[in-house]
Amino acid sequence: MTRRAIELLLLVALAAVWGWSRDSAPMAVGGALVGALVWVVIDSLRANRVLKWLNKADVSRAPEMGGTWGEVLDRCRRLVKKLEKKAQNSDARLDDFLSAIQASPNGVVLLDASGRIEWANLTASSHLGFDPQRDLGQYVRNMVRNPAFSTYLAEGDFSHEIQVDGIGPRPSQPSRISLQIHPYGKKRKLMLTRDVTAVQLAETMRRDFVANVSHEIRTPLTVLSGFVETMQSLPLDDAERARYLELMSQQAQRMQTLVSDLLTLSRLEGSPVPGLAEWSDAEELLGHVVQEARGLSMAIASAPHRIEPVGGERFWIAGSKSELLSAMSNLLSNAVRYTPGGGLIEPGWRLHEDGSAEFFVKDNGPGIAAEHLPRLTERFYRVDRSRSRETGGTGLGLAIVKHVAQRHGGQLDVQSTQGEGSCFMIALPANRVRRYAPS
Ligand code: ADP
Repeated sequence: MTRRAIELLLLVALAAVWGWSRDSAPMAVGGALVGALVWVVIDSLRANRVLKWLNKADVSRAPEMGGTWGEVLDRCRRLVKKLEKKAQNSDARLDDFLSAIQASPNGVVLLDASGRIEWANLTASSHLGFDPQRDLGQYVRNMVRNPAFSTYLAEGDFSHEIQVDGIGPRPSQPSRISLQIHPYGKKRKLMLTRDVTAVQLAETMRRDFVANVSHEIRTPLTVLSGFVETMQSLPLDDAERARYLELMSQQAQRMQTLVSDLLTLSRLEGSPVPGLAEWSDAEELLGHVVQEARGLSMAIASAPHRIEPVGGERFWIAGSKSELLSAMSNLLSNAVRYTPGGGLIEPGWRLHEDGSAEFFVKDNGPGIAAEHLPRLTERFYRVDRSRSRETGGTGLGLAIVKHVAQRHGGQLDVQSTQGEGSCFMIALPANRVRRYAPS
């Protein structure tokens, strides 16, 4: 300020002196006035340059200026720089924040006061089927066309979540999306979405499983209690009593087998995957299950089956011996139970060139129609319900085999033609197969 005042005074004084030198007092006063005017014009021009620059606020193009205006410029320049840096930091923080929301497994949608989409992450748009760029600014009620959602929006009670159909892998197979709105700020809304398809599927499977187990246990229990009542209320001779006791024992046995299979399944699901430390001789495992199957055939078949193991190269398998025996024996006992007496059953091991191996059981029994094949390993799924029951089946055998195969890095495959027979195979990967005896 002082500098500006000195400038002004100097200019006025110089002009006044110039006027005075013309030998007249009015000229001196006029000169002083002209001097003041010139100062005002120069000062306004400088102020104008500063204002122009301030309007652009481009730090790199700030005009060079001395004096008070130069100082003003300098301070403004520093302030603008500081604000620019602050804005950059805020932008970077906002970018970080949005990237974090993008990475969220849940969908996030921000709605403005009138219910228009302000921002949405990719998860939300894939859940609800809109485009996160193109559909910005659209009313969410037009994007999520679902009666339950419309009612939810209209009622405005957002204390609970609702479920709507989302975009699934196929139009016939929509996903299930759980959605909840959380109001915030001035009538704005945060909408969160979550894919609950798998949870719902697991819940349905759990319900079906409990219903199936209850049914499977209730049937022999009803028969058992019927016999108990009969024995309590009717006078029976020794032969009848013995026959009833035999039937009761069969039902008790059936329940026991079911419980044992259920326990096996739950153990398979709950225990760690078998490692590569335990090695078993494949031929030895085969011999074990073949012997067992011959015993079963003698016990249940009208005429014993021809069980003819197929020999091959000797090798060893890594994994849980008890699990492998249980899977192999399940396949062989199925072949015995479903192939009519006298039928041919050929179990064996096959080694492949890539080092993997396969256990197979081939029979010339009734075979299985193609439409049943994809469902065979579902728990309690049976093609021939009465044959399964008659021979003590639980409907869990192939589910157990599939689990064991998968736990050993392999899979269960089935080839079957109705009327011609079936071949069940457990494929095991090369890292679990060795052609030399483990040390
Ligand atoms: P189950 O205890 O009823 O035998 P599984 O899970 O072992 O249950 O088998 C499922 C169904 O697959 C059986 O009910 C049967 O209908 C069919 N199945 C299994 N193995 C054979 C086979 N070797 N030949 C014909 N059908 C078979």
